[in-house]
Amino acid sequence: MRRLWLLLCALCFVLAGCGGEAAEKHSRDFFAMDTYMTMIAYGPRAEEAMQAAEARIRTLEDELSVTREGSDIWRVNHRTDDAVPLGRDAAEAVGFALAAAKETGGALDPTIYPVVEAWGFTKDHQQVPEETALRAALARTGWTRVRLDDGSLTLEPGMEIDLGAVGKGYAGREAGQVLRDRGVTSAILSLGGNIEAVGSRPDGTPWRVGLRAPDAEGYAGMLSVQDAAVVTSGSYERYFTDESGRRWHHIIDPATGYPAENGLVSVTIVGQDGLVCDALSTALFVMGKEKAAAFWRAHGGFDMILIEEGRHITVTEGLAGRFSILPDYTEEEAEVLRR
Ligand code: ADP
Ligand code: MG
Repeated sequence: MRRLWLLLCALCFVLAGCGGEAAEKHSRDFFAMDTYMTMIAYGPRAEEAMQAAEARIRTLEDELSVTREGSDIWRVNHRTDDAVPLGRDAAEAVGFALAAAKETGGALDPTIYPVVEAWGFTKDHQQVPEETALRAALARTGWTRVRLDDGSLTLEPGMEIDLGAVGKGYAGREAGQVLRDRGVTSAILSLGGNIEAVGSRPDGTPWRVGLRAPDAEGYAGMLSVQDAAVVTSGSYERYFTDESGRRWHHIIDPATGYPAENGLVSVTIVGQDGLVCDALSTALFVMGKEKAAAFWRAHGGFDMILIEEGRHITVTEGLAGRFSILPDYTEEEAEVLRR
């Protein structure tokens, strides 16, 4: 009992200490990796730390961008030899993407780029590709045909890679790490909707993250997190409408070459590592609800929120009590997945 009192007093002291020097709020906005990024950080080291975090993101963009001339990935796709040596970051990201491809049975596939190009998602002009063109593009894909040895990547002729599905997650993880390394204990980053929460809010309460409604303005729900990444893949993020009015989005099922159609409209992954979360958000979107649930039960280590057409929402048990649906979005309660 006495020890408990001592502990309580110590806690009060810490809280009083924090309250005395109300943490100052700093923010930073910029455009990188084809999207808007926002950082909010508290405390005396925030400004310098955010500057370093932005620099880290820009370095990663220079190395990982599929369109930036001279990037590691650009060099792979414009190679003259079969094997291309990669820098440390690219080697780590590609190595991770290949491992994730294996884990997810190819639902995530960093070699899907020829198909993404055939749909025009890399350009301003998108179109439904001819069946023969799509088949030809698919023939140039397949993560099992790629080798990464000692940081050197070997691809068969005609194949290309792209880290579009994991790059922002990697950047989020690295930027969060830069902030932590520089002593920031309270910050929240949004990298085009990929969230990286460092610590908690300055008053010690969790960060509140809004989950965008896939089919309306505003939010579908609110999530409380601390020291976590929150990454969403949604069919509403990038899409086009063909002459018949049909919508086609940018997350491709590598098994068919067509945008994944399985009733899911958004998949949000909550976990410790932004890179893992980004890979899983894309892969589980491709898998669909049943396979995503089976994957979660088999692997664990993360939580997820699935939204289906018709606004049915499913959450894993770790989020019960931390996620609330906005009543304006749906009156229906979330279905909770248990192990
Ligand atoms: P966003 O970039 O909108 O946050 P994702 O993380 O889900 O969304 O990544 C989607 C991007 O990844 C696509 O624009 C495309 O470049 C690429 N991509 C699409 N389907 C796949 C897939 N099955 N595996 C790997 N990359 C993919
Ligand atoms: Mg992703």
